[in-house]
Amino acid sequence: MNREHRVGLGFDVHRLVEGRPCVLGGITLPHATGPLGHSDGDAVLHAITDAILGAAGLDDLGTLFPDEDPKWKGADSAQLLSLALAKVVEQGFVVVNVDVVIATEGPRIAPHRAAMRTKIGELLAVDPTRVNVKGKTVEGLGALAHGAGVAVQAVCLLARGT
Ligand code: MG
Repeated sequence: MNREHRVGLGFDVHRLVEGRPCVLGGITLPHATGPLGHSDGDAVLHAITDAILGAAGLDDLGTLFPDEDPKWKGADSAQLLSLALAKVVEQGFVVVNVDVVIATEGPRIAPHRAAMRTKIGELLAVDPTRVNVKGKTVEGLGALAHGAGVAVQAVCLLARGT
């Protein structure tokens, strides 16, 4: 058996500010603040993108799609994830599963978990049962307290071969 498995880890943090749509996990949440960033600031998709790139040994989001390049200014993070996935698939990998933790005291994540799983599954071309999303508060501690930001960890397993 020549089946090879690779694990990848992604992490991202964005400030949550007024006047920005709250785009997380590829969907827009009804919330007064949203992630600040050059792109739509979707920290969930950024962490997932880094996880799949990391597992495949393909650098990271910032290297492939630099902020300074006007081509990527205001980019849709879903598009960046799709482009990254294409590179991963080019290397012969398939996504086995993705697990995500969203730490924030901004929008409540629980009511939107199912929609995020479906959307992320669509973007990764896998069944939503292979995508898990969990929301966590930060107990009022540190820089993320009181809804000031969102931090996301994502882990991904890739496989290739038979
Ligand atoms: Mg980011």
